[in-house]
Formats: sequence, structure tokens, C-alpha cells
Amino acid sequence: MKILIANLGSTSLKYRLFEFRDGAELALAQGGRERVEDYGRAIDDCLEELRTAGRLAAPESLAAVGFKTVLAEGMTGCRRIDDRVLQALEAGNPVAPAHNPPYLTGIRLFAERLPAVPLVALFETAFYQWAPEPATRYAVPRKWHESGVRRQGFHGASHKYVAERSAALLDREDVARRARRLYVDGGDTKVAKPELRVISCHLGGSSSITGIRDGVAIGNSMGFSPQSGVPQNNRVGDLDPFAVLHAMRRLNLSVEEIERELCYEAGLMGLSGGWNDVRDIQRENAAGNGAAQLALDCFVYEIRRWMGSWHLLLNGADALVFTAGIGENRGELRERICENLDGLGIRLDPAKNRAARGEESEIGDPAAPVRIFVIPANEELVVAREVKRYLEHND
Ligand code: AMP
Repeated sequence: MKILIANLGSTSLKYRLFEFRDGAELALAQGGRERVEDYGRAIDDCLEELRTAGRLAAPESLAAVGFKTVLAEGMTGCRRIDDRVLQALEAGNPVAPAHNPPYLTGIRLFAERLPAVPLVALFETAFYQWAPEPATRYAVPRKWHESGVRRQGFHGASHKYVAERSAALLDREDVARRARRLYVDGGDTKVAKPELRVISCHLGGSSSITGIRDGVAIGNSMGFSPQSGVPQNNRVGDLDPFAVLHAMRRLNLSVEEIERELCYEAGLMGLSGGWNDVRDIQRENAAGNGAAQLALDCFVYEIRRWMGSWHLLLNGADALVFTAGIGENRGELRERICENLDGLGIRLDPAKNRAARGEESEIGDPAAPVRIFVIPANEELVVAREVKRYLEHND
């Protein structure tokens, strides 16, 4: 069974092709296109690339194309994409203006090209379905809550992979199995004592911090939309709602203007005054740019605040995990994030941390109460597994 996973950004198309055969999971190919202007052409090019590389003789033979969709109004989990799902995705456009439109475009183009191949979505919100209710509620009037204003949480595929891998690295196969089966039995898989408590830091172009107890998320730093939580590359992160009202009145901004500014001109971009990639911001910081230094300071500060929240709510932690572009590659930032936390049992090993180059590795003192790991993100594998399970159980 071959499953293609398409990862659609506002100007990029990345793909990974998996084959599930005789109980084995094979990653057959990966690739993609940057600076995409014509998605249809990018899809055709990628399918042709897979054909000429001998990885996929005929795209029509795919068991499914899977999508790591961000959110849809009123639905989550793993779903076959039909008109209802497309409508729900479209209704989610205002909540995820940077994410949903490219997915809608890409999904429609795949449907045109491969009308007989099932298209299946795993929503990024799916991992938080079992979070305790206080972690999902905002203190808003009831009618707001009923209209869908609630904490959802994102980067579910990435944090779920961390839940599985960290449990395996800590020899807790029972917890790894519970995490793997989560979307099948909602966490009913029995696990042994003691509890396994993990703080997962997905730090990339978009970042979020999750607390995980025994393989199940207890919440995420992102709330209703992916514009919340820690500062994102261009997106604002947490902000007092009255600051939005103030800015609209004082700066005379329309709803459309404020949406654009919160989504594309805020976050690290807003703080640093023009850079959204931490590599550029670190370079500027080294050159003495004070705004760049402030952007990094705020980023680290907010990450630590969320780590602290999960540490408290989990009553401690057995593992702290770094994943995604920044989490995997920026040792200096990991060092700053872990500074002066020995009171909590978090002790980074500077030499191991510096030596880690994006591969799975332990970067803390293994004798400390909290083990510290880098786990490379593998969101596509999580999506592919769920799509496979969906096909086996629902089609
Ligand atoms: P992601 O969203 O996981 O693709 O991560 C993207 C961000 O991670 C970029 O904005 C960079 O700041 C950072 N990043 C990605 N790759 C690298 C790398 N090889 N070295 C350093 N930083 C990286």
C-alpha cells in the first residue's frame, strides 16, 4: 500500500511517499518545490519525479493522498475529504489564513488529477481531543464557546510523534503503544506506573509547546488559532484581546488590516523589525542589532513560560524534547532555553548539545531527573499511519 503525504505551505509543496508492506513501513521518497506560483504544475512535476525515479509507476495506484490539514470548523480527527470536509476547511480560513487556503487549493488540484484516489486529512488539532476540559476553555460568554471559541492546539502530528519516540527512548514501550493507538481507542490502552511526563517543544517557523502525560496531550501553547502561544515567525503569539481593540481604534486599522498585521508582520518579524528566520535574527544579534536580540530574548522567555506551565501541570517531567527546524538545529537557543533550570532537574550537557546536528540524540545529563532529547520531526509518518488505519477501518 503506497500513501503519498502532501505538505502544502503558502509558497511550497513538500511530499513524502510511504509504502506499507508485510508489516514494514518504508519511506520511499521525499521531495518538493519552493517558491511555488502554480500549484497544479508543482503537483504534476512531483508526480513525474516519482515516476521517473521508479518510485511510483502510476499515481492512480496510490492507496491515498494524505494531508496534514491544520483545522476545520467543527471537525477534527482523521477524515476522508469530501464536500463537507472542504466546506469545513473553507469555514476555517479566517482562523488559519496562512494555512487553510493553500490546503484547499492543493486538495482540489489533487482531486482533479486523481479522481479515484481517496484524499484523507489528519487535522493538527486531533492530538488534543483528550485534553482536560479546563485546558480547552476560554473564559468567554457561553454563546462564544458555543460558536466554537475554544483552545484547540496545533502541531498535533509532530507532538504525537514525540510522544511515541520519547516513550520508546525511555524504554516505556507500554506508553509508546498507547500513543500509537490513541486515535483507535482514545487512550484506553493500559499503561504501567509511574506516569511518563514529557514536555515537547516544536520550534520552527511556527512553534508550540505541549505537555504529554502517558502518551496523551494535556494541552498545547497554541489555542484557538495558530496565531497564538509563543511568538511565531510572522504571527503574533499570545496577546491581550484588548490590545487588538486598542490598536484598531488608535491606529485606525480595519479588520482586514489587523488580521494581516497579526498574521504576517508580527511575531519574530515584528519584534526584530524585519527578520523572521532565527538564523538571520541570530546573525543580526551578533552584529549588535538590539531589536534582533530582543526578538530572541522574547522567544526564549515565552518558550520557558510554557515549559514551566507544563512542568507544573504534569507535576514534574521525565523528558524534555526539542523538535522541528529550530529545535533540531539551533544548539545555542536550546542552551539558552535550558539555562538555570537545574532546580527543576533540567541539566543540558553543553558538549552533547553542541555536537547534536539534527539527528536523534540525548543532549542532557542522563543522570538528571529530566532527560533531554532532540527528536527530528516526522509528522508525515504519523499522518501516513493514520491514513492507512483510516483506509483499513473505514473504506
Ligand atoms: P520548520 O518550520 O520546522 O521547517 O523550521 C523552520 C525554521 O527553522 C526556520 O525559520 C529556521 O529559523 C530554522 N531552521 C530550519 N532549518 C535550519 C537549519 N538547517 N539550521 C538552522 N536553522 C534552521
